[in-house]
Amino acid sequence: MKTIVIIGGGAAGMFAAINTARLSNGNSKIILLEKSSSLLSKVKVSGGGRCNVTHQCFEVNDLVKNYPRGEKELKGPFHFFNPKNTIEWFEERGVKLKAEADGRMFPITDSSQTIMDCLLKEANKFGVAIKTNYSVNAISKTENGFEIENQFHEKIVAEKLLIATGGNSQGIILQQLKNWQHTIQPLIPSLFTFLIPQPEIVDLSGISIPLVEIILPKNNFKMKGALLFTHWGLSGPAVLKTSAFAAKTLFESGYKFLVQINFVPQFSMAQVKEILQQQTVNASRQKVCSHVLFDLPKRVWQMLVSKSDINDKQNWADINKLQKEKLLKCLTALDLQTIGKSTFKEEFVTCGGVTLSEINFKTMESKLVKNLFFAGEIMDVDGITGGFNFQNAWTTAMIAAHAMVK
Ligand SMILES: Cc1cc2nc3c(=O)[nH]c(=O)nc-3n(C[C@H](O)[C@H](O)[C@H](O)COP(=O)(O)OP(=O)(O)OC[C@H]3O[C@@H](n4cnc5c(N)ncnc54)[C@H](O)[C@@H]3O)c2cc1C
Repeated sequence: MKTIVIIGGGAAGMFAAINTARLSNGNSKIILLEKSSSLLSKVKVSGGGRCNVTHQCFEVNDLVKNYPRGEKELKGPFHFFNPKNTIEWFEERGVKLKAEADGRMFPITDSSQTIMDCLLKEANKFGVAIKTNYSVNAISKTENGFEIENQFHEKIVAEKLLIATGGNSQGIILQQLKNWQHTIQPLIPSLFTFLIPQPEIVDLSGISIPLVEIILPKNNFKMKGALLFTHWGLSGPAVLKTSAFAAKTLFESGYKFLVQINFVPQFSMAQVKEILQQQTVNASRQKVCSHVLFDLPKRVWQMLVSKSDINDKQNWADINKLQKEKLLKCLTALDLQTIGKSTFKEEFVTCGGVTLSEINFKTMESKLVKNLFFAGEIMDVDGITGGFNFQNAWTTAMIAAHAMVK
């Protein structure tokens, strides 16, 4: 009987172990090794304890756009196993998922324990041999496969090996992969918010705007979405997406960078200029600070007016050319300086990991080491917030499971 070893008892490792055992029909022995004392620890805390299992997005071309790293490579895998298949997989096992208005999908129980119970029950049903407190400290190639050694120098031999040790993988695993000529992209954080502790920003804490454009002028980077002012700076989907898609350049800046906010991205610069110009005629006697334009929240408008050096008493007819130019600039490209990053509701993912061109995405097998497979965040794949990271784990684990039983 062939032995298949899976390292890592997170979402990817568990899903791979269960499906490999299920598909092998008892022809292989499946062993799952987890260094900590408990399985699925990230699943447990995920989605604020509710587990955002996947996203209600069934068009592969749309789905892949949510992966700053992995967009191209995940296309094929998602044709094989996508959120629709995830929903079915859990539903067939008695776990119904529901979608929220923004597309995020959770178990109807709103409890990550439901997902954990389901996975643990399936692992048990298909006879996965689970070893916790088993920290893999060495892996070597043998004639027929691999020898895996733990912290007590106990050894297991396997014909096939799947590495699913996640985004915070220990040096030892990454070093072994490097010894096998795999290139590891630097591990850096993704999905964070911007620290901008300026009084005029933090004073707006709690206010959100449905559509702004975040601009990183140095990198010619633009991202549209909702913005949320917080008591430490800026958050919301537009900020989180920027942190993911620009993760590498922001890391290189030490998280001290100039960010610009366009509060009126639905208008061209010329249109905004024209609208401001019209006010001097149509609203000449109205106070600028109380005459809110562009449907902006009043306090945001007042902050922008004040930043343009227009005082509380000035009417539209009173403001000079320079003040009007400043208001135009503040509306379309408000300059803000970040001093660091902050974690989004404790959720973060790691960008970096095993270089994608070294993996065959039809099987998840290494192109450099035969019978070595990968799944989940160990690879240089990461998604934005919304259930996309777990979907990557389910999909790549399922593909590896199919390939490993062949
Ligand atoms: C707080 C938080 C909330 C999140 N919420 C969501 C969410 O709601 N939806 C979503 O899609 N994504 C979410 N994410 C991201 C998501 O959790 C990860 O992308 C996902 O867990 C990756 O799965 P994985 O199996 O690849 O890695 P992991 O879940 O990190 O699992 C890897 C496992 O390998 C084990 N391991 C590592 N090294 C060794 C070793 N040498 N020997 C043995 N075992 C080892 C680790 O102990 C761990 O259990 C969240 C992340 C965080 C931190």
